[in-house]
Amino acid sequence: MPTFEEARSIILGSVAPLGTERVALLDSPGMVIAEDIIAPWDMPGYDNSAMDGFAVRADDCLEKANLRIIGYIPAGGVATNRLETGCAIKIMTGAPVPDGCDAIVPFEETEEADGHVLIREDVRARQHIRFQGEDVRSGETIIPAGTLIRPPEVSMLASFGKAFVPVWRKARVAILSTGDELIELGQSLEPGKIINSNALSLAAAVKEIGAHPVILGIAMDNPESHREKMLEGLKADAFITSAGVSAGDRDLVREVLAELGVEQIFWRVDIKPGGPTAYGMKEGKPVFSLPGNPVSTMVTFEELVRPALLKMMGHRRVIKPFVKAVLQGKVRKKPGKVNFLRVRLAWENGRYLAYSSGDQNTGILKTMLLADAMAKLPADRTEFAPGEEVDVHILCSNFDMLEE
Ligand code: AMP
Ligand code: MG
Repeated sequence: MPTFEEARSIILGSVAPLGTERVALLDSPGMVIAEDIIAPWDMPGYDNSAMDGFAVRADDCLEKANLRIIGYIPAGGVATNRLETGCAIKIMTGAPVPDGCDAIVPFEETEEADGHVLIREDVRARQHIRFQGEDVRSGETIIPAGTLIRPPEVSMLASFGKAFVPVWRKARVAILSTGDELIELGQSLEPGKIINSNALSLAAAVKEIGAHPVILGIAMDNPESHREKMLEGLKADAFITSAGVSAGDRDLVREVLAELGVEQIFWRVDIKPGGPTAYGMKEGKPVFSLPGNPVSTMVTFEELVRPALLKMMGHRRVIKPFVKAVLQGKVRKKPGKVNFLRVRLAWENGRYLAYSSGDQNTGILKTMLLADAMAKLPADRTEFAPGEEVDVHILCSNFDMLEE
């Protein structure tokens, strides 16, 4: 049985980026750039004013100068006449500076009267001018391949006219729930039944990382139903099943996957929650069989599936770093497995504090909602004292700030 780290590295070692496509710029945030992007021109494209003010010649302003105003260049306008000695041209932020000008004097440092402008402050040559190419030179790599697209990348791409961008494509992730006890959201609840919430929590998690969920519905606890749904699931880039992967006599997932040609790479991992997780492959496609308890499903997605899907979508940093948090309160666990403890976080005096979010039974969903993070408790340890540092994976960042 692999350890948590072994399982994660086996999975990551077996998947590769899917392929590339071009998407509209506004569809690209959250995706990863697939090619180096080269600047097609200088930015700024021309010398322009950084302030609303007057374009002047610095040499004219060595002493208090009173300059004759000979023109006006609005933003979006162009300079029509040259700046002659002893003159000034009114200019707006972003407007191209006229020939002969080597400094801009902001309005605040001037007084305007009778077609003239009095320059009240010292003027340095080059002041308040943004020079052509000072930000980016034509031919420079503005975004290297492998970069995650965020609003700043969108800004840069838009500035260079890139309406479409080459990206690693999104993974299509098929999601199958299994179990005779399941009904779909919206159907009427009968005794002995529960709503198929895993399909929705998994789809939400898949969406959150920018992948595309394909919900296949419910496979009933018989081989025919499993087979039919699984054949669909195997068409996607990745296939996730939930439940039916333990050792019960109705747990058919591994058996039917094997029958359909999925090679099992491991079954069971040294983690809790999530021990019965199985992983397999068919024709290079990963198949994750996650346990059915909603908490186990979400924890195994977060720790084992998420990194793999990110890698398939071209991300470079796919493993979330653990950060240190100071445990508040005593925690006990059984030896032998890494445990992921649901914890609330607080921020105090420059460090995280981790409080158990309550009942850690895998059947308890409520404490998953209260968890800001999951603390990874090492396999060999059994007791953790208050004040000990533990490694946590942060799940959300709206936790309490006790003190700055
Ligand atoms: P199993 O592994 O099939 O024994 O399922 C374990 C438990 O997970 C079941 O008792 C259900 O309560 C729960 N479960 C299984 N599938 C789902 C699902 N799709 N949505 C919510 N809970 C589920
Ligand atoms: Mg079942």
